Amino acid sequence: MSVRVTIDGQEIQARSGDNIIDVAAQNGVYIPSLCYVKGKPCLGTCRTCSVKVDGSVMAACTIPVREGMEIEVNDDAEIVDMRKALVELLFSEGNHNCPSCEKSGRCELQATGYEVDMMVSRFPYRFTPRVVDHASKTVFLQRDRCIFCQRCVDMVRDERTGKKIFSIKGRGTHSSIEIDAELANEMTPQQVRHASDLCPVGCIIDKTQGYDDPIGQRKFEIKSIKDRALEKEHR
Ligand code: SF4
Ligand code: SF4
Repeated sequence: MSVRVTIDGQEIQARSGDNIIDVAAQNGVYIPSLCYVKGKPCLGTCRTCSVKVDGSVMAACTIPVREGMEIEVNDDAEIVDMRKALVELLFSEGNHNCPSCEKSGRCELQATGYEVDMMVSRFPYRFTPRVVDHASKTVFLQRDRCIFCQRCVDMVRDERTGKKIFSIKGRGTHSSIEIDAELANEMTPQQVRHASDLCPVGCIIDKTQGYDDPIGQRKFEIKSIKDRALEKEHR
């Protein structure tokens, strides 16, 4: 069934049940997101996809469109700045030294920072000390880059038992990403690459990978995160 909604005042037809991020992308409007993976259920943990729906701020990845919905993405300066502030907050909560990071050029947080025109965080940097976890033979966790999106927790499982390999321990500023090293040791190289690619930042690092791609040929240097997101909708 189709419904009519407006995005930034433009009336469009959308498939009922599709979420706002997907509907916007289908119509050439990019909404950033760091936790949503297309086609997968999403908790809306990162909030960087915040838009206004009938005047209220909501996470676009969690809201299915419905008849008559009025969605503001780029028309409203307050919501544009709120998304930028949320990206800045993620930078200030971790330790992000992009030039020396293995994920630089392939990192969704970094690429989103460019997309929202971030120059520097307006929030004080916390420099929270978080210990690197090297226990597994396959990956290491650079914990101070984790943005707690939960992608790895929900989507990476042991192939034999279905058990989760990653988990989040603690709450708030005491949260940390954890790995079951025994299960992680059984991961195939493909699974390791999948987990590392799935992580939107440089927290889950494939121990065999390092700095594979030369500067200038890295994923988001070839094509921006915005163009990639919109392109997926038109394949
Ligand atoms: S995880 Fe991304 S944002 Fe953080 S240091 Fe690495 S490249 Fe930069
Ligand atoms: S390790 Fe990566 S994928 Fe897992 S919660 Fe942290 S940022 Fe998300």
